[in-house]
Order: sequence, then C-alpha cells, then structure tokens
Amino acid sequence: MICHYIDDFADDLGPEKIIHIYEPKSKLKAIVVIDNLSLGPAIGGCRMAADVGAREVFRLARAMTLKNAINGLPHGGAKSAILSEPSIVNKETLVRAFAQSIKKLTDYIPGPDMGTDENCMAYIHDEIGRSIGLPKVLGGIPLDELGMTGFGLAVAADVACEFIPLNLEGARVVIQGFGNVGKAAAKYLLERGVKIIGVSNSRGAIYNPTGLDIPVLVGRVGPDGDLAASGLGEPISKEDLLEVESDIFIPAARPDVFTEENQHLLKTRLALEGANIPITHAAAKEIHKRGILVVPDIIANGGGVICAATEYLSQTETSAFEKIKSTIGGNTRELLERTRETNFPPHEIALRMARERIAQAMAYRAHM
Ligand code: NAD
Repeated sequence: MICHYIDDFADDLGPEKIIHIYEPKSKLKAIVVIDNLSLGPAIGGCRMAADVGAREVFRLARAMTLKNAINGLPHGGAKSAILSEPSIVNKETLVRAFAQSIKKLTDYIPGPDMGTDENCMAYIHDEIGRSIGLPKVLGGIPLDELGMTGFGLAVAADVACEFIPLNLEGARVVIQGFGNVGKAAAKYLLERGVKIIGVSNSRGAIYNPTGLDIPVLVGRVGPDGDLAASGLGEPISKEDLLEVESDIFIPAARPDVFTEENQHLLKTRLALEGANIPITHAAAKEIHKRGILVVPDIIANGGGVICAATEYLSQTETSAFEKIKSTIGGNTRELLERTRETNFPPHEIALRMARERIAQAMAYRAHM
C-alpha cells in the first residue's frame, strides 16, 4: 500500500512522501519518509526497530534534510524503518523484501542505521542497485573503521579554538560515549596534543586529570566494557562525568543528555555535538547565555554522511577526508562568524544556514 498525505507535521520543506509498506508474503511492515528532494535524491538511514512510528521517521528524515543541505551534499533527506526486532532469524529475507518494495522509489538511497549494517546494505544493493554504507569489497568506505565522524569533530575543534581562543595543546577533553564516534574523536584530538581526562560508556566512567592513556584503554576495553577495570583512571559514575570540568566536552552517546533542567552541570568552554541532539534546543539557549560555545550536531558530526555521499559517487577515502575537512571547517567558521555578529545561539544559526541552502535549491523547482 502506498499513501501520500499531508499530516499536521508538514511544513514548507516537506515531507514530500510518507509511504507505509505492508507485504503479506514476507510479513514486511515498513515506513519510508522522503522529506525534501530539492537538492537531489534523498539519502538517509534504514532503521530496524519494532516500535517506530511515522512521526519519528519524519523527524529523522527532517534531520537528514538539514544535515545533507548544510554539508553541501547534492542530496535531499529521507529515512526509513523496517518494523521488526533487529535480532530476527530471517533478517536477510525481510531486508530483501524491503529493498524490492522501494525499488520504484528511485529518489531514496538507504544507508545503515540502528539495527542494520553493511550486510543489510549489500542485500539492498544486490536487489535494487542502490544503497550506501556498503562493505569494502563492494566499494564501501568503512566510515566507522576510519573514524570519519570523529575526524570531523577534530576539524570543528581546530576552527572553534581560533574563536574562543583555546590552545588544543594540553586542552582538557571529556568524552561521553566511547564507541565509534567517541574513540575516533579521541584519536584525532590526541594527534593535536589534547589530554583526554574523562570518558564514559553505558556502564560507567573513568577520570584522570593528568590524561588517560587512550591507546591502552582502547586495547583493554570494548565499546560497552568495564572502563574501571582498565585501572587507568579513577572510576566515577557516568552521570558524574557530565559534571567534570573541561575545556572541550564531546557528547557522543545518545540524544537529550543536556536538557533545560541539567544544563547547568556542563562546565566547559566548547561543546562539540558528536551524537545527534545531545543538547536540547532549550538547553542550548541557556548554555549559549553562559558563554559556552557549541558546534551543533548537523555541522560537527557531518563526517559520516559526507563520507557516505562520497562513497555513493564511487570516490576514494582520501577524497572523503578532504571533503570532511573543507566542509566541516568551512561550516564551523561560517557558524561562529555569524554567531559572533548576531549573538544568536549556534543552533539557531545552523538551522538558518541549512534552510538557506534548501531555499536556494527550492527556488529552482517547478511550481506544482
Ligand atoms: P556506538 O554504539 O559505537 O557507541 C555508543 C557509545 O555510547 C557506547 O560506548 C555506549 O556504551 C555509550 N553509551 C550509551 N549510553 C550511554 C550513557 N548513558 N552514558 C555514557 N555512555 C553511553 O555508537 P556511535 O556510532 O559511536 O554513535 C554515537 C552517537 O553518535 C549516536 O547517537 C549516533 O546516532 C551518533 N552519530 C554517529 C555517527 C557515526 O558515524 N557513527 C555519525 C553521526 C552521529
């Protein structure tokens, strides 16, 4: 079944299509939201989760519209969800059925997301010839292995430090979340001479004011392992880590970490949003008033999507690194110049930057 309708969440940007899929043979149920196509065919993750609704898929699709636009990619924004637990036995069958059901939706290019991975993308590619986040053998650029998002965060730090000003040599960095993004951010910032004084994961946190030995830590503890067991720092709770005083704080775990209620805990000079929406917009306004600089997610963590779009063009990882450097560097500079001129919170400016780029592209579209 395909239905197109305008719900109460539609606005001047989209969504262009909301598609509910039910395929009786495989029992596939899925939702695809194509938000805005002004900049080109939409890219956005395909999530596998049992409890996702159209509104949530739309919110995620909108985030992609904005992120793709601000990162100068020739792509609109979309998102999809296969409504199933990701641990099912017939995952491949369901993913292949999903691929067939979106075959004619040629303006949607799926990528990996929660519950899906490069194997799923390979099945989709095999069925319909389009997806991103592929295994290396099929031309994929392994963005987590290369730490592309963490690399982009370090580039944002380079530029932001000129504005504060802050010397990265010896700067104290705290990272919430020690997975793909957190570890890579640590790696690229260490190359710039920082001290990582605290890290956390879902189980706890460790703190060492003289700097944690990150390469040793990575060797000893997996993403959700026991950080305290490494013996490299003082064990503290993951909640206490949010209060550790730092020069740079990187939330790289989950959304809504700092809200209006607890934003006062953040004691840093620069926050780089590695995760998506780790600081709510209301909290970001208060944080801005307190003189803390924030580089918002759609700019700071754009490394992943820039890399995926580079892969889609069959270009190399070297080219992806170059694009991340120039795009995130340029965006951070524009953001902070405009923040300085207007004193508007960076989140507001980032949203304007993205919307301006979409508006320019929409001006070229035929009137319906
Ligand atoms: P990941 O699963 O590899 O790592 C997440 C880490 O966060 C793990 O170490 C986990 O233990 C930790 N964590 C979970 N809950 C926590 C909590 N309450 N306190 C402290 N730590 C906690 O995920 P990832 O790929 O590193 O992604 C991290 C975030 O960044 C996600 O929100 C993701 O959507 C976002 N993001 C990722 C990329 C990318 O390229 N991987 C790009 C853009 C945005």
